[in-house]
Amino acid sequence: MSRPIQAYIDLAALTHNLSIARQHAPKARIMAVIKANAYGHGLLHTAHALSDADGFAFLELEAAICLRDAGFRQPMLLLEGFFSPQELALLEKYKLSTVVHHDEQITMLSNCKHHGLNVFLKINTGMNRLGFAPEQFPAAFEKLSSNPAISQITVMTHFATADGAIDNEVFKHQLQIFNQISRYHPKPLSLANSAAIIRYPQTHRDWIRPGLMLYGVSPFTEQTATDLKLKPVMTLVSKIIAIHQLKKGDTVGYSGNFKADKPMRIGIVACGYADGYPRHAPTGTPILVNNQRCRLIGKLSMDMLAVDLTETNHVHLNSPVTLWGEGLPVEEIAQAANTISYELLCTLSTRVEMVIIKNDLQYQSTRVYQA
Ligand SMILES: *Cc1c(COP(=O)(O)O)cnc(C)c1O
Repeated sequence: MSRPIQAYIDLAALTHNLSIARQHAPKARIMAVIKANAYGHGLLHTAHALSDADGFAFLELEAAICLRDAGFRQPMLLLEGFFSPQELALLEKYKLSTVVHHDEQITMLSNCKHHGLNVFLKINTGMNRLGFAPEQFPAAFEKLSSNPAISQITVMTHFATADGAIDNEVFKHQLQIFNQISRYHPKPLSLANSAAIIRYPQTHRDWIRPGLMLYGVSPFTEQTATDLKLKPVMTLVSKIIAIHQLKKGDTVGYSGNFKADKPMRIGIVACGYADGYPRHAPTGTPILVNNQRCRLIGKLSMDMLAVDLTETNHVHLNSPVTLWGEGLPVEEIAQAANTISYELLCTLSTRVEMVIIKNDLQYQSTRVYQA
């Protein structure tokens, strides 16, 4: 038998979460963001479950080609665009849309032979990651408009703080800059990530770009996924593979920094940082064992971690463990480990077997595609 750790991927939850995004922005088209191997959930089955989306967005060219080869016909957007004339040729061949965020790309596009390319011209409104500065925008727009290879220009930006305080100044400032610029260009517009979709309807416009919410995770600290009617897609499960009785003063794990202050019963779970569990999760991080909330104790190691079973009932060898997902939101683990849900999901290790749940059927999948 293989190690008992598995990631269940609930395809119906994906479809449900997509419908929630639609309810928030009924007039917009949806560019489902499936970068980083669909936030760690696996590319192809995720795309199939989201096939009602109007388009897909990612950064990885191979992922886009993989979906085209699998028969997906929707618009597909490369969020960082292309990096060489060779890649541009692949965009043409596979009919992929691209973000354009610097002059070098505009120059490469001017040598483009084919026609019908869709570009998303990105304005840097304050995130200071990718995009043209507002004052560079008119020139960039002009060059793209006069290029016969380009059939449509969508103007886009990305928010830095849509998940922050509701009335935050950075968000308001970014939106104001975007509105000023886009007023003169009545083209399709695209602004909103998950947080903005849920919170700021004025950002919806033509294309929304939900990522995190599709995976059933809340982008906010003060609202849970359940509050937002989202359902978790990934549930990371494992089993108890050893049980020990500790005496007062015994220690647990590397460096022995956890010391029992009384007699304790502990369980060892087949899950460690090489599986994608956060190494900095401290003692006290919640873990479900046989549906009872327990706490992680000590430093976890590469392949295993320890839980306190002293207060639990009916826990024995092979008892089921939930690390996150159904019954234990990944948001809670992220908060305990001082990181964000995005990181936990997308760094799930490829050695964890995925079990895809589709119409109550389960099937095993080694990852069909790896970013
Ligand atoms: C990742 C990404 C998104 C999706 O963001 P979420 O917060 O996961 O909804 C949208 N737009 C761009 C440009 C991105 O890079």
